Amino acid sequence: MVLQFVKSTKGNNMLLHDRFIHKKESISGEKIFWKCVNFNKSKCPGRVHTLDEEVVKSTSHNHVADAANTEARKTINQMKTAAEDLQITTRGVLAIAAEGTSCAAAGRLPSVLSMKRTVQRIRKQKEGAPTTSKSLMELVIPDEYLQDSRGKPSFLFDSGPGEDRILLYSTERNLSYMEHSRH
Ligand SMILES: [Zn+2]
Repeated sequence: MVLQFVKSTKGNNMLLHDRFIHKKESISGEKIFWKCVNFNKSKCPGRVHTLDEEVVKSTSHNHVADAANTEARKTINQMKTAAEDLQITTRGVLAIAAEGTSCAAAGRLPSVLSMKRTVQRIRKQKEGAPTTSKSLMELVIPDEYLQDSRGKPSFLFDSGPGEDRILLYSTERNLSYMEHSRH
């Protein structure tokens, strides 16, 4: 059986087995060990070992599978994948995500507005990511990269195009930390 994965919020693959979600725990040779995502929350002993894309061992869980949560995660994954296809409208992407989602899982999804923002963010990254510049001579930094997430300027210094161009990225706050630090 082909292994099934869902993406974590950080974009890592999580193994879906028997309707339970597992995080990667460790790797030993070709074998991958996975632990239940409830490992911390309810000290669940559920583990899966995979080898060559196959489950070779699995232990039982101390809780029931949260089918709605698993389904909601799958839906979000689908939505994120669809969002990367710029041919589909944002509305279309949300429709794809909603299609076939049960009421129980829909209740676990973020709000429509929040999902719409996620889709728009993915598309903006896809459309607006600066193309890889061949050299510092050509590098042009788009305005949106000149601010940090709170809208504060993060780009402080550019010595200008040249062979030994110096770009300094920081925030004013960080610089002030450095200035007042004793080391
Ligand atoms: Zn478990």
